[in-house]
Amino acid sequence: MFGNPMTGFDYEELLDRARDRIPEGISQRSRWTMPEPDIMIEGSQTILRNFSDVVDAMDRDSNHVYQYLLNELGTSGTREQSRIMLKGRVPPKRIKEKLVSYVKTYILCNQCRAPDTRFIKEDRTTLLKCQACGATRPVRL
Ligand SMILES: [Zn+2]
Repeated sequence: MFGNPMTGFDYEELLDRARDRIPEGISQRSRWTMPEPDIMIEGSQTILRNFSDVVDAMDRDSNHVYQYLLNELGTSGTREQSRIMLKGRVPPKRIKEKLVSYVKTYILCNQCRAPDTRFIKEDRTTLLKCQACGATRPVRL
């Protein structure tokens, strides 16, 4: 239930927990995975080497994900083609937690938990609209 006690943190399991309320019919269609973040600490910076792969799986604007990570981690960084470099030594666990919280905040439908969602604009509000069940909820971008 609580992941591997040896690592104390299981990325896949956190994602699974976020998905575990997906009704069966929908979960069959929307089984999805995100690549495990490939994180390396080098000197005084932390490199997320497969950032673009992770973002591709999320199907979100890469710059939004990048800015979210910087804000949440309270650091600055630079982007290269497929990877990002964060200033400071950021524990990989924290980066993974922030990616999971991004998924919960900006991707998963809070009604049926499906990840098939997209942003729509309504007046000045941005809504997250679920393609699976049609539910919407406001999101702050
Ligand atoms: Zn839904």
